Amino acid sequence: PITTEDVLRWITQAAQVFHEQRDYLTQLDAPIGDADHGVNMDRGFRAVLDKLPSLSGMDIGSILKTVGTTLVSTVGGASGPLYGTAFLRAGMVTAGKHELDEADVIEMLQAALDGIKARGKAHTGEKTMVDALEPALAAARKAQEQHESLAVLLRRAAEAAEEGMKATIPMLATKGRASYLGERSIGHQDPGATSSWLLLKTLAEVAD
Ligand code: ADP
Ligand code: MG
Ligand code: MG
Repeated sequence: PITTEDVLRWITQAAQVFHEQRDYLTQLDAPIGDADHGVNMDRGFRAVLDKLPSLSGMDIGSILKTVGTTLVSTVGGASGPLYGTAFLRAGMVTAGKHELDEADVIEMLQAALDGIKARGKAHTGEKTMVDALEPALAAARKAQEQHESLAVLLRRAAEAAEEGMKATIPMLATKGRASYLGERSIGHQDPGATSSWLLLKTLAEVAD
């Protein structure tokens, strides 16, 4: 299972990854946005790291809810409320839990995705983080049906997110700042789909 400690390691690792990938994510946001996605994610997860000492002893739901409220208040931009909502919803379905099995993880990912879609009024194919997360969830469900281990399930989810991220390159953006560019949004990888992939990749590494 995924334990409370795994979740804390995930958050810690994610903060490090967003710090390391700050310039990369910001560069992706330059041609189709306002060149701040990496800065936004780094700022948000740095604030989450600062909260880490206060999270020890908490259940997984409480940890994820704290991450959500912290991201909402520090990330800013479109991605702040979207990731904030994702973690808040993930925290609701894992409330009181200290361990997550395959079904719990899928429920958590589904809740996060539903939160983003509701908040952003986004669907697949619009060149957003949804295009990484939706296929990731589908891959996770398929792995669960095949009775794969949690580690394999999360690895498949991360791989599908990477594919989904790459598939945003030829897409025409119809949500967020990139949509202002119309046809000129085509040919660029979506920064939010990239940060979503990084989050899932980090989760898979922690569960391995
Ligand atoms: P901002 O665009 O406000 O500067 P960020 O640069 O931090 O915010 O995040 C941009 C990312 O947010 C995009 O790459 C996209 O993946 C995601 N995004 C923007 N609008 C939406 C939306 N309505 N629904 C889902 N995702 C969205
Ligand atoms: Mg931006
Ligand atoms: Mg911005």
